[in-house]
Amino acid sequence: MLNKYLLIFFSFILITSCTNTKKKETENKEITLYTHRHYDSDKLIFEKFEKESGIKVNVVKANADELIQKMEIEGEKSRADLLITVDAGRLVRAKQKGLLQNATSEILEKNIPNHLKDEDNNWFGLTKRARVIVYDKNKVNPEDLSTYEALTDNKWKKKILIRTSTNIYNQSLLASIIANDGSEEAKSWASGLVENFARKPKGNDRDQVKAILAGEGEIGIINTYYLGKLINSKDSLEVKAGNAVGVFFPNQNNRGTHINVSGIGVAKYAPNKEAAIKFIEYLSSKEVQEIFANANYEYPVNPNASSSELLNSWGTFKEDKLPLSKLGELNKEAVIVFDEVAWDKGPNAE
Ligand code: FE
Repeated sequence: MLNKYLLIFFSFILITSCTNTKKKETENKEITLYTHRHYDSDKLIFEKFEKESGIKVNVVKANADELIQKMEIEGEKSRADLLITVDAGRLVRAKQKGLLQNATSEILEKNIPNHLKDEDNNWFGLTKRARVIVYDKNKVNPEDLSTYEALTDNKWKKKILIRTSTNIYNQSLLASIIANDGSEEAKSWASGLVENFARKPKGNDRDQVKAILAGEGEIGIINTYYLGKLINSKDSLEVKAGNAVGVFFPNQNNRGTHINVSGIGVAKYAPNKEAAIKFIEYLSSKEVQEIFANANYEYPVNPNASSSELLNSWGTFKEDKLPLSKLGELNKEAVIVFDEVAWDKGPNAE
């Protein structure tokens, strides 16, 4: 009888240790990536990583809010090792919800500047974009431009084009103005800009450039990569719109132009943390940065990587070094200010 129990006991030990070894064997041999990016070039980069490292990359695509929600619901059982979003605001949100973890690495320390990553290494910028002023080359003298703040000047009445306040890019821009100029100043900036709107805000960033071509306004505020997309579009009207405008980097004599990043963080319950960090290190390397950023007409975050020819043709610029985590922290306040100044109702709203 005793022998029977001993046999059962030892078989149990054997089976458990076998499954544990099996689990160890698969650990860090693959990673699961929750991503909001959707470029063909990303796929090629992931394949290259698979070949070089022997680590398989599983990709789950959806928009950032859906991915964050999925991670929340899945909790400890989540298969996610990494989260990629296209703005810092949502990475800050994921961190605040406790969905990310510290991923300290000497390589990342070296490859990614401090203001482009989380202070606790919960997330890292991968590509950088600037939110710039574009102007009608035929009507505007760039010497008349200077700062975001100066766009509230009376001379730009009925000339400014910009999308609605529901968009995170505008929320982050206003958050940066709150951080730099204070709440009161930021509010009067927003209401002053509304007074200079050429029309009620609508469309995406590209639509503002098309509206300049159509003569609806003279100045737009857009992310740089959208201009890259227009100029390289298959649609001849988009190419024409892209070429009709010049790029102006605002605030060069003070804090610098507002920037944002697409970025990545290691999931709190990542089953393959070690491999996940290796993957971020790979994406931050000079060679991969050049492909990864250029694919979407963005700037690399690694200072040793070079930008594309098109981006170089717009010239170099001084960027606002405000820690990007601030954008997430001030997001709610920015949304409230937009509401208070009735941004989305446009000029002359009752
Ligand atoms: Fe975008």
